[in-house]
Amino acid sequence: MQSAPTPSRSSSRPLSVWRPRRLLATRAALTFAHGRTIVERATAMGVEVVELPGDRLRLDLPDDPRRAYAQAKATLALTVAPPSKRRLQPIAPSADWRVDLAEGCPAHCSYCYLAGSLKGPPITRVYANLEEILDGLPAYLGQGTITSRNEARVAEGTTFEASCYTDPLALEPLTGSLSATIAWFGRWQADAQLRFTTKFADVAPLLALDHAGRTRMRASINPAAFARFEGGTSPVAQRLAALAAMARAGYPVGLTIAPIIAAPGWQDAYATLIGDAATALADIAGLDLTVELITHRYTPGSKAVLTSWYPGSSLDMTETNRVTKRTKFGSEKQVYDTATMRELRRFFEERIAQELPAGRILYWT
Ligand code: SF4
Repeated sequence: MQSAPTPSRSSSRPLSVWRPRRLLATRAALTFAHGRTIVERATAMGVEVVELPGDRLRLDLPDDPRRAYAQAKATLALTVAPPSKRRLQPIAPSADWRVDLAEGCPAHCSYCYLAGSLKGPPITRVYANLEEILDGLPAYLGQGTITSRNEARVAEGTTFEASCYTDPLALEPLTGSLSATIAWFGRWQADAQLRFTTKFADVAPLLALDHAGRTRMRASINPAAFARFEGGTSPVAQRLAALAAMARAGYPVGLTIAPIIAAPGWQDAYATLIGDAATALADIAGLDLTVELITHRYTPGSKAVLTSWYPGSSLDMTETNRVTKRTKFGSEKQVYDTATMRELRRFFEERIAQELPAGRILYWT
């Protein structure tokens, strides 16, 4: 029997559960049993449920951008993922394929990458046709390029990432979609892995699932000193405690250290963070741990959106220490310059080797 590390003050705080102000359900979504279950869950949580007469979402947001943002963030839409959304896209370096159970996130991170990848008001949209989404996955088995090319990952089989466009754990109390997907992968007799990363901590519904080791949860973490950039998420100590609980329940686990921010004092802040992670994961028998390292970056488009959403944020998005990098699709992003990247990378690789020797670094970007 493993003994749990002593929880810090923030890890013993009650876990926060997102409760949207309203749920807009399209007519098509309510034809699916999973959609009706989501409505029942939302109703039980006291959420106002609006059944739309058709399949078009009418948001009726106010003209004032601040109020429009707040209302959109408090809105959950229950819709159906069309065939175009169920055609999976490759998602290097995280996984072979991206699978979306939802789009959007209720948290308020001032660096959120969704600002550059999702268009329109920042509502959260969950999909009612979960069975159709999952039924489409076997066609992709053995088709990936990431896991087959990467020695550290070849044992994981074809990998499916569920957190590209959302934080699925944030939505779990309302949807149950993540639990259902974990159980589905557990039953799938295939060389495949579901992956999700999260800045939330309520893993209680996941602990007793028959996951068969085919789901890897990663905690997305940053130092407590940078918590001001992560509004509405769970405290980092709770995320680490949740990750440890999942590891004790036999799940493969991981750390997504992201985004790595080279703000003054970053060495001490990240040294403490890695030390805290090592403490939380100490003495877990059979620990299967990976580490993903992602430095802060932004595009001109995401910077414009984020600056409009979080005008008071102190997150540095100036030219200091930055260079422009062109993606293979021709777009531009601002990343740290070579000297900063080199210093960051050396620091993380050394620290992780010292403090988390069991952790396999999957990639640095
Ligand atoms: Fe974006 Fe992740 Fe923060 Fe949600 S938790 S707002 S997806 S960075």
